[in-house]
Amino acid sequence: MPIAQEKPSSRPRRHVNERRQRIQRRFRIAFAALGTATMGITPVAHADPDFSEGLPDGGIHTFCYYSVSSMQSTMDAAMTRLRQQTVVDTAYYNPCDVHTDVRWVQGPTDVPAYGQTTCTLAWDNGRCDRYRVRLNKAVLDDAPHPSDQYRKTACHELGHSVGLSHYSGSDYPGTDTTHSCMRSGDVSGQDWNILYGAHHKGSSHISGTF
Ligand SMILES: [Zn+2]
Ligand SMILES: [Zn+2]
Repeated sequence: MPIAQEKPSSRPRRHVNERRQRIQRRFRIAFAALGTATMGITPVAHADPDFSEGLPDGGIHTFCYYSVSSMQSTMDAAMTRLRQQTVVDTAYYNPCDVHTDVRWVQGPTDVPAYGQTTCTLAWDNGRCDRYRVRLNKAVLDDAPHPSDQYRKTACHELGHSVGLSHYSGSDYPGTDTTHSCMRSGDVSGQDWNILYGAHHKGSSHISGTF
């Protein structure tokens, strides 16, 4: 049975993001119409809004381990992969500071899920100052392929903290035609388990945010 990655957010500042998404959608529709007119081809549209909990505040993406965790090596490897694959730079804080961007936590999620990322401190402009990134070991250990799922879920939840939304099935973000760790659901041993996609790494998302 598939397990939801996160519970939908009901935070009050959501309207900020929804407004942004509406504007982006308008642009996308305009471009789609242009493509249709000039090439006679109807592009396939994929909804790919920013993460519902808000975009990060940019700069160095600082991180810390908020609680003693047997999953720390998984968390650390995810930080390293983020640095290696994207323009994001990171710095480790010990102990956690109130403004540390990513607080890694091993523990239960609000509803049973492999992981969950929430913004726990936001700036007035709607940008997120601090995310809580949770990995739910009890549920991860019940996954069909636990060690693959550890890596994938760490990549996925950390991806939310840099502003990415997840997707399902083959509803690829942007013009991507290959999968990334932002795909929701169960995994086993494919490369994309630990990779961010070209569309998400580019100027529409990570490179435009950091
Ligand atoms: Zn996009
Ligand atoms: Zn997700």
